[in-house]
Amino acid sequence: MSHFVEVILPLALDKTFTYQVSETEYKYIKPGMRIAVPFGKSKMYTALAIETHQNPPTLYEAKEIHQILDENAIVNEVQLKHWQWIASYYMCSIGEVYRAALPSGFLLESETVISLKQGELVDEKTLTDDEFLVFEALQYQSSLKVNDVVSILNKKNVLPLLQKLIDKSVVSLQEEIHESYKPKLVKYIKLHENFSTDERLNELLNSIKAEKQKELLLGYFQLHVSEKKPISAKQLIDFTSSNSSVLKKLIEKEVFEEYHLIQDRTDFNEVENAKDLTLSQSQQKALDEIKNHFTTKDICLLHGVTSSGKTEIYSKLIQETMQTGKQILFLLPEIALTTQLVSRLRKFFGNKVAVFHSKYNNNERVEVWNQVLQNSPKAQVVIGARSAMFLPFSELGLVIVDEEHEQNFKQTDPAPRYHARDAVTVLAKFHQAKVLLGSATPSLETYYNVENQKYALVELFERYNNTPLPEVILVDLKDSYFRKRMNGHFSDTLIEEITTALTLGEQVILFQNRRGYAPLLECMTCGHIPQCPNCDVSLTYHKFKNQLRCHYCGHSIAKPTHCHQCSSVDLTTKGFGTEQIELELATLFPNKKIQRMDQDTTRGKFGYDKIIDKFQNREVDILVGTQMLAKGLDFDNVSLVGILNADNMLYFPDFRAFERSYQMMAQVSGRAGRADKRGKVVIQTYNPNHNTIQQVTHNNYIGMFKEQLYERQIFKYPPFFKLIKITLRHKEYEKVKESSMWLYQVLSQQLKMPVLGPEEPAVSKIRNEYIRTIVIKIPDSVSLQGTKKTIQKVLNSFDVISQYRSVKLVVNVDFG
Ligand code: ADP
Ligand code: ZN
Ligand code: ZN
Repeated sequence: MSHFVEVILPLALDKTFTYQVSETEYKYIKPGMRIAVPFGKSKMYTALAIETHQNPPTLYEAKEIHQILDENAIVNEVQLKHWQWIASYYMCSIGEVYRAALPSGFLLESETVISLKQGELVDEKTLTDDEFLVFEALQYQSSLKVNDVVSILNKKNVLPLLQKLIDKSVVSLQEEIHESYKPKLVKYIKLHENFSTDERLNELLNSIKAEKQKELLLGYFQLHVSEKKPISAKQLIDFTSSNSSVLKKLIEKEVFEEYHLIQDRTDFNEVENAKDLTLSQSQQKALDEIKNHFTTKDICLLHGVTSSGKTEIYSKLIQETMQTGKQILFLLPEIALTTQLVSRLRKFFGNKVAVFHSKYNNNERVEVWNQVLQNSPKAQVVIGARSAMFLPFSELGLVIVDEEHEQNFKQTDPAPRYHARDAVTVLAKFHQAKVLLGSATPSLETYYNVENQKYALVELFERYNNTPLPEVILVDLKDSYFRKRMNGHFSDTLIEEITTALTLGEQVILFQNRRGYAPLLECMTCGHIPQCPNCDVSLTYHKFKNQLRCHYCGHSIAKPTHCHQCSSVDLTTKGFGTEQIELELATLFPNKKIQRMDQDTTRGKFGYDKIIDKFQNREVDILVGTQMLAKGLDFDNVSLVGILNADNMLYFPDFRAFERSYQMMAQVSGRAGRADKRGKVVIQTYNPNHNTIQQVTHNNYIGMFKEQLYERQIFKYPPFFKLIKITLRHKEYEKVKESSMWLYQVLSQQLKMPVLGPEEPAVSKIRNEYIRTIVIKIPDSVSLQGTKKTIQKVLNSFDVISQYRSVKLVVNVDFG
């Protein structure tokens, strides 16, 4: 009798594979254990067992496995079920999901490159003979492939040994460029609460004899009176020309207390525990409503305006779920996963919070994986970006998706191209866990589900502290240019408002969205931007062909010589970036500290956190940035937000442009006027009467929702139609053209629904490959699964056409 194990390989192959095992192995193997297996002529992979059986494969001779790598399953059955759902819904292979789900340190294979871990002192005595051989080899060679290790040790089964060396921090995977993620906290000093009365203060001053300590204390009072803001330890020491040991003595004596500014911002009374956190009346009401809804519905949307204290409500809910012993997953868009938020939650939940961040190195990710696997209290709450949903939860009780509208939840490359918000609701269902989606500006899809009563809704339209939402001032750029009231890209109004804010010692955020590759063509006289007659998008200027094109239906016209609206010949291509704004600011406000935040300035190790810290610590007066600024940041001294050009966003060629513009503008506006003062937002635009701009001005989310929903229906977009985009790429122009035409024709014949394309995207050549796209719009009324099956069949028949075999195909379900 033969024994077999069925495994998933971490490859884009659409099936499972059968390997031969001994009877002992057969009895030992459990689904979810990793197994090193040979594949092809000389490759080795880390496969995942999904079942054992006694049916030999019919199409090939089963090879023997190399070795079982785990003593216990590291992946559970709910995960496997979830992976299957992802593979089927997002039309990719289960192997691709497996590869994406596990930290790469779990997936050693013959081609994996290892090298000595930098900066680690290795005690050679702790190494076994084989381990030492590898260590020694790496002294002479900066890196080795796993295959090389196989020959050095002259044995096949090297993965467990390598895993040990990784655990011992002797070697690391070469692909790792990650830095470990350490929140930077700035130390601040305040007077101990024992001395809150004048009387006690006098006693204190009389009681301190040491001259140096007295000087420091007096210096503190002086600073306290003049600065009226938090005093950092460094500032105090500098100011009094003292040193840290003197300060330390005063802290030991409980004269001073130290604290960290990142942990507390608006008010400086720390909330130490979620239990002590008191919700405002309306927050409490919202929380009660959520819990109430959860008795009948599994998914609830918390629609709460910016600064309403959604995080506080989440915290309470997390705390209550913790008491049931269940696990909690808190998903955030990558960029919002700041030290700011992490420390806020750590403050409530201490060491029960694990963070799963792409900035984490492999060891750290493996560690969190294992903690979750063992259902360790250290990881009862997991905060993470989208990939955290792949962790091996066994008893998930609650999932929170904050800023659920963020497009960042969708993975673009490589497969699986999943949307974490949607995929995690399926996972939650498997666990019978509740899902809370939170946003000040919910996605159309989510709000549509609320309207259809699929999701419950809880609204919170009051900011914490009752500060009103900011006042929005619209500046008509057309008019301002005409009256020569512009200085570069700044209107008189914006300059005045900036000046006022800075004079009061307040900070300013300026927003310039520079998204988009090819700029738009715009009329300088009337602001008109040519639109596609068939679609709800603006045309994009293609410099190379001197054309205006629609990215959705392929419609194109030659670049006009004059404006179709007002006949002006004053046409210009549009697009100015943050860099230009930064330069202009330097001339306008030469004595102020200006900081730019965009992809270029946040590239470094902790670039993003550094800038946030600097701004938070008030070392920067004006922060200029791209949409990065919109992501749930909470600053306590920003009174003014300026949006330099709202039209950039509005006319981005995307069916979601208006929705996204609304979200973006409402979110950046939300950064203005937090604590006790109403903020201001200045929006510069050529189209002050544009519906979306008006909706932002009046905080009219429902108006935006209704209007956009109507448009989506008319133009056949989500949530009424599901979109699937197929991208074809090849080095030869003719081959892409021909093959995409073939695919388009077959799909149109087979599917009774709109199939658009094949379209040449705006960036029609990347890395010497030509690109064409086809978009399929699947109406609500037809079976999604059935349609996907048909599409898959067509794709399979495409694959067997020999002259098209080299064409690369990418399928993106729910793209955008
Ligand atoms: P949102 O996420 O809804 O934009 P936040 O959760 O960031 O709002 O809250 C805004 C500010 O108000 C934060 O500084 C937060 O600490 C403070 N805050 C909100 N609710 C409370 C509360 N119940 N107690 C103390 N501070 C609160
Ligand atoms: Zn015009
Ligand atoms: Zn079009």
